[in-house]
Amino acid sequence: MTGGDPLRLGVLGGTFDPPHYGHLALAETARVQLGLARVLFVPAGDPPHKPGYPLSPAVHRAAMVTAAIADNSAFVLSRVDLDRPGPHYTVDMLALLRGMFAGAEFYFLMGGDSLAEFLTWRDPVGIVRQAVLVVMERPGWTADIPVLEREIPGIRERLVWLDAPRLDLSATDLRRRVREGLPIRYLVPPAVEAYIREHRLYARENSDCRR
Ligand code: ATP
Repeated sequence: MTGGDPLRLGVLGGTFDPPHYGHLALAETARVQLGLARVLFVPAGDPPHKPGYPLSPAVHRAAMVTAAIADNSAFVLSRVDLDRPGPHYTVDMLALLRGMFAGAEFYFLMGGDSLAEFLTWRDPVGIVRQAVLVVMERPGWTADIPVLEREIPGIRERLVWLDAPRLDLSATDLRRRVREGLPIRYLVPPAVEAYIREHRLYARENSDCRR
């Protein structure tokens, strides 16, 4: 990047309940492939896409993200969606970040599942106007690009596919694994596993903390 080039910022929104190597691989692949200066990890407060989803308290999810990204100086926790009342739509979050980082170019990172459901999001045209979509394919999900192009003309030019292996990892499955006493070692960073154990997250007897 030369001096006059705009700052390239990646944004990875999610519930991160818990963060796992799928998120980190997505962020790091995007950082390298697109030359991103930073990737902002943006935990959702009250996710509009998961109504009724029994989310862990934000304090835990933010702490786990902090632990997960600690060894990568390009990765940063953003509290933009944690410190404001919901609902938290991506289109609004991007507008806030664009205000904070004037002149930066934004790259919104997502898994193939998110792209497949993108038309259900609030103002997808507004999102694509503000950020390039950077997608890592995810097992079991295929986005219908012609339909997306019909609904959001020009989206093809705003889409970048990452060259990354498909990782069949999800927070849903990790929570199940903890609940059932199965190992999560090598699926999440050691510090995230330690945090989950220390705070007894996702354990059956503690399931009420997720309501
Ligand atoms: P849950 O299972 O609770 O729905 P999740 O594992 O999908 O959670 P989120 O925090 O909802 O994690 O995901 C944040 C973003 O990261 C989304 O865009 C999602 O598509 C992407 N992502 C999550 N896991 C992967 C993965 N294994 N490969 C590629 N992208 C992923």
